[in-house]
Amino acid sequence: MGLMAGKRGIIFGVANDMSIAWGIAQQLHAAGATLAFTYLNESLEKRVRPLAESLQSPLILQCDVASDEQIARTFAEVQKAWGTIDFVVHSVAFANREDLKQPFTQTSREGFMLAMDISAYSLVAVTRYALPLMNEGGSILTMSYLGAVRAIPGYNVMGVAKAALEASVRYLAAELGEKKIRVNAVSAGPIRTLAASAVGDFKSKIKLMDDFAPLRRTVTQEEVGKSALYFLSDLASGVTGEIHYVDGGFNITVSA
Ligand code: NAD
Repeated sequence: MGLMAGKRGIIFGVANDMSIAWGIAQQLHAAGATLAFTYLNESLEKRVRPLAESLQSPLILQCDVASDEQIARTFAEVQKAWGTIDFVVHSVAFANREDLKQPFTQTSREGFMLAMDISAYSLVAVTRYALPLMNEGGSILTMSYLGAVRAIPGYNVMGVAKAALEASVRYLAAELGEKKIRVNAVSAGPIRTLAASAVGDFKSKIKLMDDFAPLRRTVTQEEVGKSALYFLSDLASGVTGEIHYVDGGFNITVSA
């Protein structure tokens, strides 16, 4: 029997087979979980549907997390199919490309709000609509980055959004502990994905990992997936409100 046998949950944030959410999905599936997937729009559906089907996912739903109606509809469909769920993976972020390229002082009001809405507020909204379905012992996991706590060149408005996301994890964890629901974040090292391609000077972030991370390399999608499995399973039954680094130890180095 796998660690996640009998558990069901929903994964927001698979865009393709490079996505961190896909690394998490593979680990959860291998551990026996049943998975629902969401995709942002029709053009991504073409990529997400075959991936989800390869893990025998019975529920593949469209959801733009900028819309409360779409989040509500998504959880209503999950409730209709399953009644309850055990976990939620929130692996979603967005900022305008130009806001990650230009100096931080040039961030537009709209760009700031957009990054905050999709990358931070959406965790609060998703959690709100997930709550009525969550079983006792349920677990919610989101994805962060070191730019939340350090001024990382090129990360700019996304760093501000990640700081809000990490604070949201603590407030959600504090509120939901009573209901025996845990909320945590994994702060991952740089991994080549669609979202990462928008981050300024991404190559040099990987090079810094090779030079300075205690493990002398960046991490893989699979390694993030394995840590996610810990948080989403009963192995982490006593852990909530944690921002857990999966970055080869980079966050502890002076250069970081
Ligand atoms: P990705 O591009 O594969 O995933 C980002 C996902 O966000 C995509 O599936 C995209 O469709 C989704 N998304 C964007 N706007 C959305 C919206 N309005 N509604 C619903 N979904 C939306 O890239 P990734 O690197 O796997 O990113 C996943 C998470 O990991 C993000 O939160 C990202 O900030 C975080 N992260 C990434 C890295 C990295 O180096 N790749 C490092 C640390 C943290």
